[in-house]
Amino acid sequence: MLPAGLPPEPTAARASLSAEGRKRLFPNATDAEWADWRWQQRHAVRGLEQLERYVPLTSNERAGVQETSALFRIGISPYYLSLIDPEHPFCPVRMQSIPVRAEARIRPGELADPLGEDKTRPEECIVHKYPDRVLFLALDTCSVYCRHCTRRRITQGGVAELSKEQLRRGVDYVRSHPEVRDVLISGGDPFMLSDSRLEELLAPLSEIPHVEMIRIGTRVPVCLPMRVTDALAKTLRRYAPVFVVTHFNHPKEVTPEAREACERLVDHGVPVENQAVLMRQLNSDARIIKELSHLLLRSRVRPYYLHQMDVAEGCEHLRTPIAKGLEIIQQLRGYTTGLAVPHLAVDLPGGGGKVTLQPDYAVEYGAQETVFRNYKGERFTYPEPEETDCTCPYDGVWQERAPRYGYRKG
Ligand code: SF4
Repeated sequence: MLPAGLPPEPTAARASLSAEGRKRLFPNATDAEWADWRWQQRHAVRGLEQLERYVPLTSNERAGVQETSALFRIGISPYYLSLIDPEHPFCPVRMQSIPVRAEARIRPGELADPLGEDKTRPEECIVHKYPDRVLFLALDTCSVYCRHCTRRRITQGGVAELSKEQLRRGVDYVRSHPEVRDVLISGGDPFMLSDSRLEELLAPLSEIPHVEMIRIGTRVPVCLPMRVTDALAKTLRRYAPVFVVTHFNHPKEVTPEAREACERLVDHGVPVENQAVLMRQLNSDARIIKELSHLLLRSRVRPYYLHQMDVAEGCEHLRTPIAKGLEIIQQLRGYTTGLAVPHLAVDLPGGGGKVTLQPDYAVEYGAQETVFRNYKGERFTYPEPEETDCTCPYDGVWQERAPRYGYRKG
C-alpha cells in the first residue's frame, strides 16, 4: 500500500520522454550504444556549434554560451539532452544544462568558494570543516556540467582525476585523524571514475577502523543513469555502509531510466538519498517539490535536503528568497507524508556550515505549557511535564560497558 498522501502511480506516458528525444536527436544510436555510459560521454555536447545542432537556442542562451565559455565548461550527455524541451526555455532540464547571459554576471558579494571550503583544505583532496567528517574531492569531472554548480572552481577542469599519490595522501589524512567517522566522496562526480578506480578509493577508506560510513555525492543517476550498472552497485555494496546522495531537482528528471538506476542501488543494499537545490522559476513551487518527493519515494529514494542556493558566482538569477523555501515547507508539512518533506537547509556563505530552517509552529513558550499552531493554523496546547530532570542515569554504565561488546565509544 502506498503511504498516505501519495497519488496513484503515473501512467506509462512518462516512459516515452527520453525515447522520444533520442529518436529525434540520435536516431542512429543503437540500443547498445545508448546504454553504454562511455558512448554517452564520448557523444556529450561540449560547445555552441554542437549544441545548436540539437536545440534551437534563444538569443539569451546563445549569448550565455558565448559569454560563459571562459568561466565554466558545458557538457551534456545525449541522455540528459534527450529530456530537453526544444520549444521552451524554462524547461527545467534545459535551464540546468544550457547557460544564459545572467550566468556570466558576477555580482558583488558572490563567492567563487561560497562554502569557504578552501580555508579548511589540509590536502588537495580533503576538506575538513566539521569535527567528525571530511569531504574527499576525488576528481573534477561530471556527466553534465550543471549551470547551478557552486563548486565550479573545481569542476571547471584542469585537475581531472587526482593522481595515485594525491589519493594516497588523502587516505593517509583520514587514517591519521581518528575523529573522522564519515567520509563524503565528491568532486566532480565520483561515479565518473571507473569501477576499479572507485574501488581503489573505497577499499583503503573502508579499512580504516574509525571510518564508520562512506557517502558518495553524485548526479549520475539523474544525468547518466546507464552508468549505474550491476557491477557498480556490487562494488559499492562490498564496502557497506555506503550511502549514495544524489541530486534530482525536478520531477521531469525522475524518468524510468533514472528510477531504475536508483532502484538498482537500493536492490543491492545501497541506500539512496536526494539533495535538491531550490532554483527560481525552475522548481520554486510547493507543487513541484511535492511531486518530486513523491516520485523519489516511489523510486525508494529519500528526499533528504532542499537546499537554498549558495551565494556563488553566476547563480544570482537562480536564487530564491529565504521566505520561498519556508513557504514550500509549510505547504508540504502536514499535507503529505513526513518522509516526503525534506529539510530546508542554508549553507552559510563563507564557511559557516549548514543550518536548517522550518516554519515556526510554536506560538507561545511557557513554563507550564507551550502553545502551537498546526499546519492548518489551529492552536493546540502541549502541557509541560511536572518532572524536568532529563539526565540518563544508565548512560555512565553503558559507556563503561559498551566497548566490551564492540560498541565504539560515543
Ligand atoms: S554534478 Fe555536481 S559537481 Fe558536477 S557540475 Fe553538477 S552540481 Fe557541480
